[in-house]
Amino acid sequence: MNLQLSYWLDDDNIICRVDDHWDRAMDSQNWSDRASASKIVGKPLFEFICDDVTRMYVATMIESVRVIPHTSFRPYRCDTPDMKRFMQMIITPEENGWIRVSHVLIRTEPLKKPVTFTTTTPITPLRQLRNNQTINYVRCSICNRLQQYGNWDNSWHEADSFVVLGHASVKPLKVLHSVCSDCLHELR
Ligand SMILES: [Zn+2]
Repeated sequence: MNLQLSYWLDDDNIICRVDDHWDRAMDSQNWSDRASASKIVGKPLFEFICDDVTRMYVATMIESVRVIPHTSFRPYRCDTPDMKRFMQMIITPEENGWIRVSHVLIRTEPLKKPVTFTTTTPITPLRQLRNNQTINYVRCSICNRLQQYGNWDNSWHEADSFVVLGHASVKPLKVLHSVCSDCLHELR
């Protein structure tokens, strides 16, 4: 099991290279993410991030490493329906001017009850409402906590918390992705 996966970005945040074991790691299900190496190399990183706030968040992290060369560590979560997966992103400048972004699996923990999500298309929430779509939660892309949609009291809950499991009759939960205020605060 490969616990670390890296990709490299050029000045324009185009993915120039991925780890040799990328495809094998994707197949092994340790990584829930998307695409084979041949489908992502040569593409802009931000094509793979669907919402504006997360895109801004990641861009800010990468840019800070570019402006003042240093290695940046950022914990985040990449949960599966039944596992909490505690991850770390490591962003580091390379000698050739590329930026290396590594994702490391630190540990996993089972959810009290499996929770599945569907992600609605990345259009504005207001338009979602006009289209009369039901959105259950906003999900933070960084810590994976959930805020009840339309209840903007700034309370964010784990997917297996009492609050969220109370809505578990709706399956899967329909979510919009964003970044919570706690995670945005960490960026500063
Ligand atoms: Zn968060």
